[in-house]
Amino acid sequence: MGKPDARTRLNVVNDHQPARDFNLAERLAQTPILTPLDYDRDGKQDGFLRLYYSGETNGYGYVPIPVICISNGEGPTALLFGGNHGNEYEGIVGLMSLARELEVSDVRGRVIIMPSLNYPAVMAGTRASPLDGANLNRSFPGSPSGSPTQVLAHYVSTVLVPLADLVIDLHAGGRSAHFVPCSIVQEARDPHEAAGLAQVAEWFGAPVSFVSVGKGRGGSLTLAGECMRQGVICLTAELGGGETMSPQGLALARDGVTRVLNRIGILPFCDVPAATATRWVRKGPENRLHAHVAGIFEPRVSLGDTVAAGQLAGLIHFHDLPMAQPDEVRFEVSGAVLSLHIPALVGRGDELCTVVSDVG
Ligand SMILES: [Zn+2]
Repeated sequence: MGKPDARTRLNVVNDHQPARDFNLAERLAQTPILTPLDYDRDGKQDGFLRLYYSGETNGYGYVPIPVICISNGEGPTALLFGGNHGNEYEGIVGLMSLARELEVSDVRGRVIIMPSLNYPAVMAGTRASPLDGANLNRSFPGSPSGSPTQVLAHYVSTVLVPLADLVIDLHAGGRSAHFVPCSIVQEARDPHEAAGLAQVAEWFGAPVSFVSVGKGRGGSLTLAGECMRQGVICLTAELGGGETMSPQGLALARDGVTRVLNRIGILPFCDVPAATATRWVRKGPENRLHAHVAGIFEPRVSLGDTVAAGQLAGLIHFHDLPMAQPDEVRFEVSGAVLSLHIPALVGRGDELCTVVSDVG
């Protein structure tokens, strides 16, 4: 049997959450992934999920996906993910450090940590899995009989998310972008749920937060989208980018996660600095600025700059036509620069930057 339903202890509770008719043993029987831990057992356990995969150099082995479960009696359950994309590092390092430090006596309830969720991508230093080329964060809810990434997404959707009262998924800009550290919540279905999502973002304390507007294209869900579909509160964060390690982003990964766990009662005794107020901004399709020609992008702004509609964002130089005048890219909306493309070489359709405006 699962732990007692601790959802009422959360003030992020919302009315859409499904009844806990969840049978963990039944769910574990639906996945080909082997779980070496007992999620229902109190104590600190660590091990590797076994994602069986027949590869070129290992025809009969498994992909080991690290998992740590720290559980102590009644209380909420938090799921913490890093490495959903394999080349985004602040969450991976922050969560490994948290997993090493947390003791059973610190916890009321349960914390399940997967610092390198898409382990094959983390080991390869890539966004997508090298096993099947799939982007895990566009693969939910997944399939138990699909490709390795589909099987992993299915495990998260069917075994882990239903255990959770709260999910935190830590990202960064990967190879393509740098971000001002920010947190993202999904569109709520009612004001009560919206208040819960906003509360978690306030606790996390990123400099900037926004509500993700619109559903992902292509039909499959992100992890956050899957959590919302199941009525589970999920916070996503972008902590840096460029395949680098941002000290500010790493500190936010540690302090933000710890603060949220403290406020929901899982780490009632921890000492964590108070959050600075997050700035709520709007980021919709109109806030994305794309390259409509290919070339070398010369940005004329920096991350965090305040910009105006019509202002020059940068130039795209035609390296195959040295005498041609570069293309001028101008902002379509006013606001602040939240993200910037990193590689100077851009293709038609690449996102050059995002500009967000204050809400209200
Ligand atoms: Zn990511």
